[in-house]
Amino acid sequence: MKVLLANPRGFCAGVDRAIEIVESALKLHGAPIYVRHEVVHNRFVVDDLKGKGAIFVEEINQVPAGKVVIFSAHGVSKAVRKQSEKIGAIIYDATCPLVTKVHKEVVRKQKQAHQVILIGHHGHPEVEGTLGQSAPDSNIALVESACDVERLELQGEVSYTTQTTLSVDDTRQIVEALKAKFPTIKAPKKDDICYATQNRQDAVKTLMQDSDLLLVLGSNNSSNSNRLREIATKMQKKAYLIDGANEIDDKWLSGVGTVGVTAGASAPEVLVQEVIDYLRDYGASEVVEINGAKESVHFPVPAELRILNKEK
Ligand code: SF4
Repeated sequence: MKVLLANPRGFCAGVDRAIEIVESALKLHGAPIYVRHEVVHNRFVVDDLKGKGAIFVEEINQVPAGKVVIFSAHGVSKAVRKQSEKIGAIIYDATCPLVTKVHKEVVRKQKQAHQVILIGHHGHPEVEGTLGQSAPDSNIALVESACDVERLELQGEVSYTTQTTLSVDDTRQIVEALKAKFPTIKAPKKDDICYATQNRQDAVKTLMQDSDLLLVLGSNNSSNSNRLREIATKMQKKAYLIDGANEIDDKWLSGVGTVGVTAGASAPEVLVQEVIDYLRDYGASEVVEINGAKESVHFPVPAELRILNKEK
């Protein structure tokens, strides 16, 4: 059996930054600190930070007044920010800068009196945060599919924006439906689906041309990891989303010639290496990493935490 490794895979710049913010805030303020929602959607990362003293909450009313609160990489609504300020929280914002860019687009378009359409998954925290940027007298229409587009009744200038971690191919279809319905609709200045999502999806498409099965390291609630699994499924290949090597069922590997392995943007490389070790023990004789896009994106942490790291 051969193993093909996707490239790029795993942590993106936004996840790196979010984890660094939590770890640096713990060093600066000591435990406990509070994190609103899982800072990134990965069980291993969240458990590790819990062990270091982070407390994960879903609502700000679970945070005692005056404590440190960190917003997750997915971003928060204006209401959550306001509520945190109201309780005198010391706030660190780990929202990925590429999500913040979408927030700013929403605000800018609404100031120009555009009706904004958000393409995204209902209930995902990033979507809730983006919907929550809306001005009090405006609404954002959420669409999840081309069928949703049919139901839209909007007048005047219309713009669209998207969640950052969607399927590039599915989103293209929805955008086509939007353009057919609203011929003058304005697109974002630059694609909202982020570089990491795009590159990881491209890598899986390449990988699966020569693989029979795909193992995706990523948690169930990770949007971008689910999209990677779906790509393989659409290519008529078997694909499984796993949190670690311990979730591999040997039945999946029976009779398989080549296994593709990748990791979502919130899954650490250590988990990939454990899967490789598992597959070697199972009998894999060769592990090859495919060629892929080079990534050099880096997002610095807030200035006060940067100073702390220099002092280390
Ligand atoms: S997946 Fe993209 S948008 Fe999400 S944290 Fe990573 S870089 Fe930012």
